[in-house]
Amino acid sequence: MDLVGTGIAFLFRLSFLGEAHREPSAILRQAQQAVLFHPQQEVDKSMRNTAPIAESVHRITIASIGFRACHAIILFACCGLFNNSLAQSPASSASTGEAGPIVVTAGQSVFGKNGFIEYVMGNLPIVISVPHGGYLKPSTIPNRVLGTAGHQDTNTQELAREIIELFRTQTGKVPHVIINRLHRDKLDANRELFDAAQDDPIATEAWNEFHSFIDIAEHRIQQEFGRGLYIDLHGHRHDWQVVELGYLLVSNQLKLSDAELDASVQLATTSLGLILNDRTTPLSQLVRGPRSLGAALEQEGFTTVPSPELPHPDGEPYFSGGYNLEQHSAFSGRKAWGIQVELPTGIREDNARRHAFATAFVKSALGFLSNTWE
Ligand SMILES: [Zn+2]
Repeated sequence: MDLVGTGIAFLFRLSFLGEAHREPSAILRQAQQAVLFHPQQEVDKSMRNTAPIAESVHRITIASIGFRACHAIILFACCGLFNNSLAQSPASSASTGEAGPIVVTAGQSVFGKNGFIEYVMGNLPIVISVPHGGYLKPSTIPNRVLGTAGHQDTNTQELAREIIELFRTQTGKVPHVIINRLHRDKLDANRELFDAAQDDPIATEAWNEFHSFIDIAEHRIQQEFGRGLYIDLHGHRHDWQVVELGYLLVSNQLKLSDAELDASVQLATTSLGLILNDRTTPLSQLVRGPRSLGAALEQEGFTTVPSPELPHPDGEPYFSGGYNLEQHSAFSGRKAWGIQVELPTGIREDNARRHAFATAFVKSALGFLSNTWE
């Protein structure tokens, strides 16, 4: 089966999930560039996962649609992507690519224009994004000059692919995984648009694809499961070699006692948000209680903060969560518990250790979901 890439309209984001956090001018600029469903021209086939999982089959109609095709068609196309309901291509006369339905199964990849963004479609209520694990440095995109550049989160892309395989082996299903294959010198997919793409149109398009793929995955999870888990996967270079879990809680908040934390911080201001109306689990227990993700990773042998053993960073550098976590978690009203996972170099740069972490993560994430689902 030939998998053809797809770019997704930014307007999809506006309609399904809301964009209250963006500037109107930025939205307009992105909307003007909303050309979708470009065929993938060149794909590194070694990066594809072509093994199908039979139970989740979706029809994707590939076409190129100009901006004038607009909102309704875009919504229709995106709904069809997940509901098997799109029988005919909505291609307009502006179409420049091949059209026609193809079938994509969970575990297989679709790509944005140019192959810069990869979306491994899933069928678990888990979305994993990898914004800083890319290698591609096309000359068509100038290097970013503002903000953080040059620091790639080494081996996070490889780790995500290991995690996919382990989920498949252990559950027969796979998470949704969105990978930015561009190097951070070209696109920082964990920043707001201007900082991320610095006004380059090709990088801007890739940024839109990256976030739209996450949106689509979350929309699907909301439709199928009601809610799920969103992980933004990173690597840190701190000397303190621990796994850092970000919930949009800063060090000073984590330093509070459980009682103080629960009394002073509203769950809605964190990436765990208010997903279940009848939730009774206190925030402190969600982030560092015995059934937290941190506790599970600790039990698997990975020192993690926050966790029952290490409730706060104690003055050490610590990433509390960034742009993606804010945008794609319950903090922004998404039906997804969000966690930024930051791995030290000692895990990422040692193959055996990285594989061990992938194994521990799969077990821990499934445990967290099961604990949090109640
Ligand atoms: Zn990162």
